[in-house]
Amino acid sequence: MNIAILHNKQINIEEQRLIYEEDGFDRSAIKEKLENDYRTFSKKQAFHCLCCNSPVEMVLPMERTFYFRHWDQSECSYSENYRKYERKIGTHEVPKKHALGKTIIRTILEGQAKPLHINIEEGYHYKSTLSIVPDYIITHSNGETWAIDYLTGLRSNPAYSKNVSQRKNIYTQNGFKPIFFIDEDWLAYKPGHLFTTLVTSEVSASRTSAHDLHWKRYIEGLPKELSEHFFLLKENFHTDTTSLTYLNPTKREAVIIRLLQQDFKNARLLTAPIRIPIERALTIELEEMEFKLYGENETQLQMDTTEHIRYLVRQEQIEAAEREKNEKLEEARRKEREEIRQKNEEAYRDYLETKRDRLSQSSKSLEETQEERYKQIQEMEDRVERQWGTPGRRSNASKVETYETAEEKLKRIKREKMKERILHHHVEGESYIKGSPLVWKELVLTHFNKIKRKEMTFQELITLLKKNGIEFAQNESLVHYPLKSYLHYIAKETKSELEI
Ligand SMILES: [Zn+2]
Repeated sequence: MNIAILHNKQINIEEQRLIYEEDGFDRSAIKEKLENDYRTFSKKQAFHCLCCNSPVEMVLPMERTFYFRHWDQSECSYSENYRKYERKIGTHEVPKKHALGKTIIRTILEGQAKPLHINIEEGYHYKSTLSIVPDYIITHSNGETWAIDYLTGLRSNPAYSKNVSQRKNIYTQNGFKPIFFIDEDWLAYKPGHLFTTLVTSEVSASRTSAHDLHWKRYIEGLPKELSEHFFLLKENFHTDTTSLTYLNPTKREAVIIRLLQQDFKNARLLTAPIRIPIERALTIELEEMEFKLYGENETQLQMDTTEHIRYLVRQEQIEAAEREKNEKLEEARRKEREEIRQKNEEAYRDYLETKRDRLSQSSKSLEETQEERYKQIQEMEDRVERQWGTPGRRSNASKVETYETAEEKLKRIKREKMKERILHHHVEGESYIKGSPLVWKELVLTHFNKIKRKEMTFQELITLLKKNGIEFAQNESLVHYPLKSYLHYIAKETKSELEI
């Protein structure tokens, strides 16, 4: 325990140490000063326990906090509570930060003690032993008691989380209303972001104040389309609002966040964090039996929130309309592209068919002329036969047409394969010639022998191609190149000499 009675006056040994420390003395100098001031009194058992009135002695260790203990080392509720409290702070809190916050809280609360007829005491001064001791206990004139804790410990440490939830339970079991203030370092907030994330200890520390209930009623009063949109609560809709208060003792500010918890960790912020002076946050309102934990004009904030939601809903509608418009446009574009593609395909098919027709017509006429010549030969032979009585070659000729030896068949297949290969050979500059390359390649191949034998000139070949409907995409002189390469390729494949 840090307080003992000396001649009816409370001596707080830790407080005395702090005063000397602020004056710039180091620990050993402070220790020497306190020894000089109180050692003799302590030895003469002049100090008494605040709680049980037993004589206590002053202990000034170099490493730990200064304290008093019963001479017989027995425990009363004060000594026991103090020991537990010191251990709690040492284990779970950030001592320096905690001490500063605690001092400010005490100063503000003590200012209200007299006018409000309330009693503010250190948690460890409580008259019976507590398994967890709060920072402060406030006793109201109507008998209601509050346990106040300032939380500075590790954010997501499981041991700490467990400890905070235990505190809540134990304070409640002892008849206290637990009220937690959290160090602002814990606050997870990004301006404009509508969500915050809580650690288990924050979830334990959150509670529903009278003002949170105002917000609950506000949400319930919102038009359905707005509340559904804002709170994303189409299913399992609940409107249970809670709040958390963070303290920044250095800035002397308190920050309140109002929440709609979505799951264990994530919560929807009902409005941006509300910043108020720490003095206001720690002002007790007797009518409400609450701290003044609300902003100057939260009704205005609610109206702003409604406007904000309206804006978001509108924005979303605009975006949806925009999306729909774009989708329709894209669909129209896709259809158009598909139509063009189909038209192109049809046109190309028509083109190919025309070409094929023309080609078959020309080969037909060739066949016809061949047939005519053949008939003429036959007639001539018949005449010879009639005149001379010698058998013509007619029967032999028909034999050649129908009969094919295995060797001949192999040769024919080889020839066909070669033809196939030649027709599908790609030459540089092919694209200068319009239409399917197979069409003009076939024509070139057909006339290759004539060119080889110099019965046809290169220029005549070009004229022939044009007559057969082949069009050029480029100047004619440029078309020479792919045609010549193709002729050379045929020569190479058929192992023939070619001069062009
Ligand atoms: Zn005692």
